[in-house]
Amino acid sequence: MRHTIPLQIDFRANTQRVPPDMPASVQKATTKFLGNRAGVVGVVGAERWEQLRQAGHQLRLHAIEHLDYYLTQLEQQVTAAGGHVHWARDGEEARRIVQEIAREHGVKRAVKSKSMATEEIHLNQALQESGIDVLETDLGEYIIQLAGVGPSHIIVPAVHMTKEGIAELFREKLGIDAPPDPQRLAEIARVRLRQAFLEADMGISGANFMVAESGTLVIVSNEGNARMCTTLPPLHVAVVGIDKVVPDWESLSVLLKLLARSATGQKLSSYTSFITGPRRNEREQGPQELHLVLLDNGRSRVLRDEITRETLLCIRCGACLNVCPVYNSVGGHAYGWAYSGPIGAILAPQLLGAQAAASLPFASSLCGACAEICPVKIPITEILLRLRHRVMEGDTVEAPVASPMARAAAHSSALALSTPTLYHAGATAARIAQAPLRRDGWLATLPPPLNRWTSVRPMPAFQSGFRTWWRARALPITAQKSQKQKKLLLGALAGATLAIGLWWAQRRSKTIN
Ligand code: SF4
Repeated sequence: MRHTIPLQIDFRANTQRVPPDMPASVQKATTKFLGNRAGVVGVVGAERWEQLRQAGHQLRLHAIEHLDYYLTQLEQQVTAAGGHVHWARDGEEARRIVQEIAREHGVKRAVKSKSMATEEIHLNQALQESGIDVLETDLGEYIIQLAGVGPSHIIVPAVHMTKEGIAELFREKLGIDAPPDPQRLAEIARVRLRQAFLEADMGISGANFMVAESGTLVIVSNEGNARMCTTLPPLHVAVVGIDKVVPDWESLSVLLKLLARSATGQKLSSYTSFITGPRRNEREQGPQELHLVLLDNGRSRVLRDEITRETLLCIRCGACLNVCPVYNSVGGHAYGWAYSGPIGAILAPQLLGAQAAASLPFASSLCGACAEICPVKIPITEILLRLRHRVMEGDTVEAPVASPMARAAAHSSALALSTPTLYHAGATAARIAQAPLRRDGWLATLPPPLNRWTSVRPMPAFQSGFRTWWRARALPITAQKSQKQKKLLLGALAGATLAIGLWWAQRRSKTIN
């Protein structure tokens, strides 16, 4: 079976399916995260925080601009530490690699910690089709796995659900009559997961960062489940995007300071695990084997564009989602893929192709709050605009995807705006044509395709042209000004003539005397 990555994400259609109570659940969580973040950033101080953001930006940019060097170094170090490195060009190759490793080791049960890279490639489905029982162990991931849906937030996958909804889900899927009490619900999940950790043949994880100089995988979590997944089973497989490499520990220290503060408003997450190779001897804890699957899946293609490549600086903190008015109104599922919010809107079109995710760069008000809050200063607004252009025009990576009508409209507008005569003729024609539809300065209904706008809001009627407006409003002012200037000039001339006359008369009387 093919692992379906949606061929076409229709953001607008997805928003129609958003449950009415969902935005309130999302906003409750995002408001809390933003409040916590403001508190810890306030302690650091605005100036120091800006310095950290700038340093984070430069470090990440340096890393992605030298991926070839740092990934080679990483591979050498992971291998030297006893690990195995695999390179996966795309999701299909990554899935096959993990399936083969599992088959070679006779894996029947796997436990998994939260990983966006594995969500991206639908790894769970592939393993389940190979007869492997895969259990998500992050509480949020566990909940959405039971619900059979994807994550709706990068760091809080079940953010769209209420505690009542989760209790109902546990009742339905686990047969446990649970009260809508978060602590009790977490206890129920913990009991089930603990047994699964002990029985698993393979632990699967992602990584927040990979340190090239030592070959270390860094996993940041708040639940401790990642540590169980990567130490208890005899086999550990990590699937990580190639963009997650950082040069050294010094760079890592800056990024860790930015990540936890921006994500959950903590100084540091509860667990930060550093994994360098498998265990070296029987006395050490940890897996006997460690495999690192380095996932490209379109990332090296993203590098080709100097502006949009900065998308790869992302450290998946989720702050841009929390602050985004669009995300807060529609939640994560409307974005149709693993990544949602502003980062989803810029990452999906680049990894899936502009054709598949053409609607996402337009799912933004361009308010710029995402770019302002981003801890590594990704110019999200600039990238959104660039991708909108790419959707309309196509580029060397993807074919044009705009409909012939949209392309014709864009070309005619460009022509009209660059040819004044055409512009005036068009503006006059629009004013005349709108007359039957105009009501109090507004156009309430327009024929297709413009009715897509007027079906949800009225459109302001075309006004008289700018030049007409200017002539009517500004010329009298200009005329008044020049009248005033003329008077001043005449006054000055009369004054000068009088002064010269007096001087001449004085001089003559002196000569006669
Ligand atoms: S784009 Fe920036 S703010 Fe958004 S998740 Fe990535 S690092 Fe965080």
